[in-house]
Amino acid sequence: MEPTPGYGPMISASRRLLARVRDVMAGSGAAQSRLDRIAEIIAADMVAEVCSIYVRRAGEVLELFATQGLNPSAVHNTRLRFGEGIVGDIAASGRPFALGDAQAHPNFAYRPETGEDIFHSMMGVPVLRGGRVVGVIAVQNRTQRQYSEEEVETLQTVAMVLAELIAGGDLIPSSELTTTTGQTITSRPQRIEGIMLNGGMGLGTAVLHMPHLPIEKFVADDPEAELQRLRGAFKEMHGALDEMLSEDALAAGGEHRDILETYKLIAEDAGWLARIEEAIDTGLTAEAAVQKVRNDIRVRMGQISDPYLRERVHDLDDLAHRLTAHLLGEALGGTAEGLPEDAILIARNMGPGQLLDYDASRLKGLVLEEGSPTSHVAIIARALNIPVVGHARDILTQIDEGDQIVVDADHGQVFLRPGEDVLAAFEESKVAFEERRLRYQELRVQPAESVDGIPIKLDINAGLMIDLTHIDESNAEGVGLFRTEIQFMARSKLLGVDEQTTFYTQVLDQVDGKPVVFRTLDIGGDKMLPHWGRADGENPAMGWRAIRVSLDRPALLRQQLRALLRAAAGRELRVMFPMIAEVAELEAARLLLDRETERERQRGRPLPKKILVGVMLEVPSLAFQLPALLERVDFISVGSNDLGQFLFAQDRGDPRLVNRYDMLSPIVLRFLRDVVVACDAHGVPVSLCGEMASRPIEAMALLGLGFRHLSMSPAAIGPVKAMVCSLAIGPLEELISTLYGVAESSTRETLRAFAMERNVVI
Ligand code: PEP
Ligand code: MG
Repeated sequence: MEPTPGYGPMISASRRLLARVRDVMAGSGAAQSRLDRIAEIIAADMVAEVCSIYVRRAGEVLELFATQGLNPSAVHNTRLRFGEGIVGDIAASGRPFALGDAQAHPNFAYRPETGEDIFHSMMGVPVLRGGRVVGVIAVQNRTQRQYSEEEVETLQTVAMVLAELIAGGDLIPSSELTTTTGQTITSRPQRIEGIMLNGGMGLGTAVLHMPHLPIEKFVADDPEAELQRLRGAFKEMHGALDEMLSEDALAAGGEHRDILETYKLIAEDAGWLARIEEAIDTGLTAEAAVQKVRNDIRVRMGQISDPYLRERVHDLDDLAHRLTAHLLGEALGGTAEGLPEDAILIARNMGPGQLLDYDASRLKGLVLEEGSPTSHVAIIARALNIPVVGHARDILTQIDEGDQIVVDADHGQVFLRPGEDVLAAFEESKVAFEERRLRYQELRVQPAESVDGIPIKLDINAGLMIDLTHIDESNAEGVGLFRTEIQFMARSKLLGVDEQTTFYTQVLDQVDGKPVVFRTLDIGGDKMLPHWGRADGENPAMGWRAIRVSLDRPALLRQQLRALLRAAAGRELRVMFPMIAEVAELEAARLLLDRETERERQRGRPLPKKILVGVMLEVPSLAFQLPALLERVDFISVGSNDLGQFLFAQDRGDPRLVNRYDMLSPIVLRFLRDVVVACDAHGVPVSLCGEMASRPIEAMALLGLGFRHLSMSPAAIGPVKAMVCSLAIGPLEELISTLYGVAESSTRETLRAFAMERNVVI
């Protein structure tokens, strides 16, 4: 490709430096002396007075291994912890830093033994290998020099080549590089906590996903030939993806197919290819260039908190691995023979395509260091019925290929090298699981009715077609919350009116006359859409989200309403607006619905036979306008997830706050009680569709507060129904009426004691 103007000098500078570093690396001599020589070359080439190379040692410590310009006696003596000083910051963040006046930086850590007090400017880059920081290279100058972006890029390219020298095992034992804690992997049993991404249990043999693909050649002799190799591999990769898409299981359609389609689109992204080509222009081989771009992507990934965007970036990471495998002619591990019959995959994260590379019939579980419930790999795993635990911190450093492992996804935990006790418990759990399944199956046909004869309506929450299969399985009465945005997120593009109409029609056909509450788009916050950019604002959950977006960009909402009206023609349509904070917002949204209805009428299109309009009560302010609200709606549904977040000013996604406030606090009980009383007085049906309804003890409390309609995740229907059928609501109401005023954080223990005493199944 044509270099951009002004890019040429950088390319030749980078190539020259790379070629020199390569010659030294390929030369003879001890690793230490080669490293010393490289520090010299970098300093000279970059016109820096100092070049220092730090290598990561066990226990997240960086040791000065070579320097040109600092005091030589500091070598092997100066050590910095991750996060300590600017060098430590570079390692901790995995990001480059360039500072005109490093000493003025608040995190500058002065080390007298180095003699660095005379140097003012500093630029440093992490040395990354397989996504982990294995060292830092830093250059310094006496003057307050402003390093250019090109210089940072050049040093990053050198760092990549240097990573191989560090990983070679001659400088430090390679075992030190594979563990973050510095401890070697023990053979002791161990339990690691994570979160459930897909329920179930599995016992099997650990298979480490994505072993490092060995790149042997970093510096290109002939950049043109490298560009050809890249294009060839790119074509091959596309062919393989097409093949994957045409496989029987996927050709049938569904969300997993959509996800793979998206993945393919990302692979076609011209920007990505252009960046790899640019990296080849700087003198790297095709595989090293892919690796370089991948390192950049991983750094970016570390800075993104929005789960949707992280997922997109992760897809790129996955594709980079795939492309490297094609370049090197390596098989993509998964389908290789030798995958045990009972494989449990362990990975930092994974793309949807990567999971599909494995023979699913042999996968008994998946454990990820990262991952989130809405991640694409979780959606695919759900379709394949594989239990998944995410956020299993540092598991890759604690486990060896071939270790035995128990995945208990229901409780968000894994057991490495389980002892006899855990294995026995696993067997017991399996038996108990089977018993429970049978019990729920028996309950399936029974009405959800309390011991004292009060009928309770149980609905499921859904967002994908796959979820709807659970209506029949669980015999739920309908869909109390259909999160329409999930469809947009899984498909990774905005859906037009026709596509939406088709999809909503399918949903209504599938449920066969049972009611479905379609919630209009709740985007923003943690649910970003493609082409929408990043969530902005300091508190996206409280920012431009849900109905606020819909009212400011009415075209999107109007299209959705039009599609819903068309899909429900001749049937009943239930529409619910999210995040309504005041009655005026409902009125504005309703006006759009009325206009769309009128428009359809004028065009002679058939309309739904009945339209019911409701709101989510999840922003506390709305509770102060209940009388006016209840005059204007056909139903309301409490969103306890957001309500809890706003009531306690507690970010629902912050793991540090998970156990801080309890939804069984008297504060929540009192709030909800007031809502139920007002709704009953106005004759407006009220339900609750947040996670609270999915947990039997909390669902029990809701019944005691007067709720008679709950909507929950499909898997919760069985356990909640078992609770309902074993509960006498009258005595519970009496107990709860004494709890509103107590000045304690939680009523959980009191409620638990009540359930125990009366054999309520919670
Ligand atoms: C809620 O907030 O409780 C809710 C059901 O909506 P969501 O989780 O989709 O925000
Ligand atoms: Mg909500």
